[in-house]
Amino acid sequence: MRFYRRILDFLFPTSCAFCNDPVGDSTIPFFCSSCWADFTPILGQVCPRCGRPFDSPEALAHSPDHTCLACRRDPPLFDQALAVGYFEGSLREAVHQFKYRPCRSLGKPLGEWMAKNVRPLTKIDLVMPVPLHGRRLKERGFNQALLLAHRMSETHRIPYSCDNLYRARPTRPQVELTGAERIRNVAGAFALRRPAEVENRSVVLIDDVFTTGATMNECASVLKQAGAAQVTAFTLARAL
Ligand SMILES: [Zn+2]
Ligand SMILES: [Zn+2]
Repeated sequence: MRFYRRILDFLFPTSCAFCNDPVGDSTIPFFCSSCWADFTPILGQVCPRCGRPFDSPEALAHSPDHTCLACRRDPPLFDQALAVGYFEGSLREAVHQFKYRPCRSLGKPLGEWMAKNVRPLTKIDLVMPVPLHGRRLKERGFNQALLLAHRMSETHRIPYSCDNLYRARPTRPQVELTGAERIRNVAGAFALRRPAEVENRSVVLIDDVFTTGATMNECASVLKQAGAAQVTAFTLARAL
């Protein structure tokens, strides 16, 4: 009996994955309404290049193009990175449940939150998810970035391309690696099936979490080599 109860609780949990309170009449799988409403959006001033939040609220007061030290030392290959929320608290837990449980049905509400809270994006031609390698896709059953990209495309009526950019070889999960290892891990890992489709286009790359930016940078390099005019890296969350 206890065994079946445990299985039932795994499939249809009655307590919130973050606070353990009863989920009540929450419409979000595995989360109570108050934890879901408790995601911390990034609202202050950020580096216009990599999206890193600035400590000082006055950082851009006199020069709106002022970039952070890391971007001045080693400019990324994407033109801009933006994230909607801080990768902490209940948002961090939601991303974990989404990817590692894995819970496909969290894609819709997470994608909606992302699409609704994005800072204004101008002149975007194409939305593209960061691809998963076939092997990982088989394990998880879905590409979390693709579900988020789909929601962005629908909400903002931007064309979307889900199969042009692909992983040419499998890579280790970035989450296990240090900064320098992450860069090596994804070097040469991406390619385009139809490079002409991105030529002179302004592309938004979508992923779940921006950590060091190594994956986004590698994808941006492939897009820029194919002649993309502008590459924006857009993620649900940003780790600091
Ligand atoms: Zn909760
Ligand atoms: Zn920066």
